[in-house]
Formats: sequence, C-alpha cells, structure tokens
Amino acid sequence: MTKPKVYLVGAGPGDPELLTLKARRLIDEADVILYDQLVGEEIIASLPDHAELVSVGKYAGHHTVPQERINEMLVEYALRGRRVVRLKGGDPYLFGRGGEEAEELTAHGIEVEEVSGITSAIAVPASAGIPLTHRRYASVVSFVTGHEEPHKGDGVHWDTLARLEGTLVVLMGVSRLAENVGALLKGGKSPETPCAIIERGTRKDMRIIESTLGGIAEKAKAEKVKPPAILVIGDVVRLREHIAPEAGT
Ligand code: SAH
Repeated sequence: MTKPKVYLVGAGPGDPELLTLKARRLIDEADVILYDQLVGEEIIASLPDHAELVSVGKYAGHHTVPQERINEMLVEYALRGRRVVRLKGGDPYLFGRGGEEAEELTAHGIEVEEVSGITSAIAVPASAGIPLTHRRYASVVSFVTGHEEPHKGDGVHWDTLARLEGTLVVLMGVSRLAENVGALLKGGKSPETPCAIIERGTRKDMRIIESTLGGIAEKAKAEKVKPPAILVIGDVVRLREHIAPEAGT
C-alpha cells in the first residue's frame, strides 16, 4: 500500500482562473475533497462529481465542523488509502490553520504536501487596484488577523502597528472592525489615513468600500459589510482611483 498522504491545497481568492495548475490537477484526481466555503461558489461548483465532497468550514474562525473533527477526518480518510485533498481558501499557510492540520497529520505518520495558493491578502487588494507596495507610498507591508481576542498575550499589538510605516492588511477583520480601528487611532495612527475594505475580492460580486481610518468603521456598518473581506490601511489606497477606478462598483 502506498504511504498515506494528504495534499493541503490553496484554492486562491475565489476566481477559478486563479487556481494553480497543480491545484486543478490534484482536485480532478482526488477521491475525497474536504473544502471550506471560503474557496468560493464558483470553484466549489467545479469540484468533480466522482470525488466525495465534504464541506467542513464556513470561514476561517467560523468553522461549521470543529477544527479537531476536521483533523480527525483528514487522518481517517488518509489512513483508508484515499487520495485526499484538503482545499483551503487563498494560501493554506496564511491564517488558514493549515499549519495545525499539517502538524496533526504528520504526528499520525501521514505525509503532507502543501500546494501554495494565491493568497487573498495580496490578490484581493490587487483586484481592487491597490498594489501593497509602491516606491512612493510604502516599503513595508504587515499582514494581521483582526479576529484575535484583545489582550491575548502573544496577540496583535495594535499600538505597535499604529506606529509602523507602510501598508497594513487586516484579514478576518469584519467582526472586530470598530475595536481594531479604535486601537490604531488610540495608538496614534492618523484618522486621515486612507482605507479600503474589499468584500469578496476577485469574485463577480466584489464590493469596495473606501474611506479614511476615522470613517471606515461607520461606513462599513452602513454598507453592511460581510465576510470574507480584507481591510487595507495606508497611502497605497490612493492609487486605486488611478489604477482601477471602476473596480467593485
Ligand atoms: N488562507 C487565506 C486566508 C484565510 S483567513 C488566504 O491566504 O487568503 C480568512 C480571511 O481571508 C477572510 O476573513 C478575509 O479576510 C480573507 N479573504 C479570503 N478570500 C477573500 C476574498 N475573496 N475577498 C476578501 N477577503 C478574502
């Protein structure tokens, strides 16, 4: 029998044409695919009929199936000798708990092959006309989760981030938006700093909400922003009106 193996595959931000060739091949050859809704409707609709399809997660942090159970299922399917693909939104190793799944599988003697995907952290701002770096505006980019409990010992230090130059990209930032923005303002970040929220980036119904740091929380609430969405904070947001003024409208 071949050694049990799981492919931990990134599906990219949702546009099916942003799947890698390797992801597409592994999906088409799989016996079992455990996928998150974050992968997006269009890619989910393209999963092969011959495979057993198991929906395990809504969005990161909002799993319909608890993470422990997902890990157990991956182990069970792999030990049964099935060709298992664990399909995750964006890149498996950026805020997707892919690292935890890989650790768990490895601890059970199961081989893991990670297949990088295009991360939403870069591709979603890009689809809205926002390059994260630019010689005139930003030489530093920080990627943070907006979802963590405040005051968690090793969590996000918003006061430190407030003092950083460059671009701040917040994933999973919808539910705690007002708190996190408040912490940045309190830390000294200018309320005039340009901001954009991109909801469902690279998908057909993408929306972009633009404001300043001082105004973004209220505008997002008024516009009823829903996950998945990415918040970009920094002067690079100004480039949008030159690069893709029509995107998301
Ligand atoms: N591993 C993923 C991120 C998982 S965390 C990646 O590399 O993209 C889940 C967060 O990703 C969401 O809360 C949202 O902030 C972001 N996200 C993923 N796809 C998105 C999309 N199409 N549009 C906007 N945000 C997206």
